[in-house]
Amino acid sequence: MDAEQLRENAHKMVDFIADYYKSIESFPVLSQVEPGYLRKIIPDSAPNQPESLQNVLDDIQAKIIPGVTHWQSPNFFGYFPSNSSIAGFLGEMLSGGLNIVGFSWVTSPAATELETIVLDWLAKMLKLPEDFLSSGQGGGVIQGTASEAVLVVLLAARDKALRMFGRNSIGKLVVYASDQTHSALRKACQIGGIHAENCRLLKTDSSTNYALSPEVLTEAISQDTASGLVPFFLCATVGTTSSTAVDPLLALGKIAKDNKMWFHIDAAYAGSACICPEYRHYLNGVEEADSFNMNAHKWLLTNFDCSVLWVKDRSALIQSLSTNPEYLKNKASEGNMVVDYKDWQIPLGRRFRSLKLWMMLRLYGQENLLNYLRNHIELAKYFEELVSVDQRFEIVVPRTFSLVCFRLLPPQGDEDCINKMNRDLLEVVNSTGKIFLSHTILSGKYILRLAVGAPLTEGRHISAAWKVLQDEATTLLEQYMKCFWEGDDECST
Ligand SMILES: *Cc1c(COP(=O)(O)O)cnc(C)c1O
Repeated sequence: MDAEQLRENAHKMVDFIADYYKSIESFPVLSQVEPGYLRKIIPDSAPNQPESLQNVLDDIQAKIIPGVTHWQSPNFFGYFPSNSSIAGFLGEMLSGGLNIVGFSWVTSPAATELETIVLDWLAKMLKLPEDFLSSGQGGGVIQGTASEAVLVVLLAARDKALRMFGRNSIGKLVVYASDQTHSALRKACQIGGIHAENCRLLKTDSSTNYALSPEVLTEAISQDTASGLVPFFLCATVGTTSSTAVDPLLALGKIAKDNKMWFHIDAAYAGSACICPEYRHYLNGVEEADSFNMNAHKWLLTNFDCSVLWVKDRSALIQSLSTNPEYLKNKASEGNMVVDYKDWQIPLGRRFRSLKLWMMLRLYGQENLLNYLRNHIELAKYFEELVSVDQRFEIVVPRTFSLVCFRLLPPQGDEDCINKMNRDLLEVVNSTGKIFLSHTILSGKYILRLAVGAPLTEGRHISAAWKVLQDEATTLLEQYMKCFWEGDDECST
């Protein structure tokens, strides 16, 4: 590691990245390569002798960029956003530059202490109850993803239940959530040894906009307890992945408390919006929760990865996840004077991720962040209005944050036919490379999802996206109508 060489090469890389952002709109948003494309153009083995950075950068331009889907494009509307920002990028760069491994306090005191402080800042921005702050029995920790967050709290809750009911009761432990809950919960159950038949994904429908009904939960719990099972974990979601449904936290939390269950809230995407006072009410009831998680890397200008988890009782996590081998012993840890985040997560090693969160908060400030989120929500509202005045389309579930769920609704055709048409529409729209959207299925309906949230997206991108969708819909409807007219049953094929 030669410092001057680093300076020279890193400057070149920064130039490369800046140029990338400058020309980002010139690439097809969804990569158009075929599976296996790269093996054909990259050698079978590593070079014996060093190559120049310029050669590698040329290859990146020619071979890698075509295989990139441009999540930072202003025309990326798929899944949920994955924000990048200058502050986030700088923090990420510094983290890579220092390259510490902060598993225990002693391995880099600043990494642990900054994480604790910045998560307290963020908890205050979200107006989380005091119990989640580090000053009491709780505190925050940065996980890689929401999947890891739900896994670690499920393990903590499981072990707490096993301490209470005996180690042999694992087959009786039951987890509850709605059928809209992210698949990460099911994976956590699998890893955590919760029996698959004890993972209750309770049915939701359009009558509650796909939110979990407290009555349905109560009913399921009483059936299970009547048959000798032990309810121990409830996962609610604020902003489900399919349609941003918000579960009624307050009512669900009371049920969890009455049944002595661990109550986890997954607000991976929508948690960011809740720093705005006008959206904070979606978190009402969070005071009933044992743990709360949101992804700063989705919609809060912090480069991937940065998933923030708060717990009320950190000792529950630590009891499940701590190890204390001789080779890691040190005075600060032995003296119980410090936090060792290795005991709050699955891996041992951990990056200095709080840097990018801290830099993001400092370089933008709370007020700008509110405006940033509000702007995306306004843009989504604008798109929703465009869709709702076109008779050929329908809004399938009301918009809550910055996601619009809609579909083409032709005058003729059964559900299967309509589904096929929407599948075709998504396919042609994404293959234009002009925009990228993803889909979901709700109550058997195939639905297009347009999620606003890329930092570069402006009103003109929304208008242009709508134009692409309208044009492709017109072409598609003409084809379909011709088939109907000629009696061809296009849809059955
Ligand atoms: C995106 C998302 C997840 C999964 O996120 P990872 O951080 O990739 O694990 C979980 N829950 C919800 C509600 C999400 O939107």
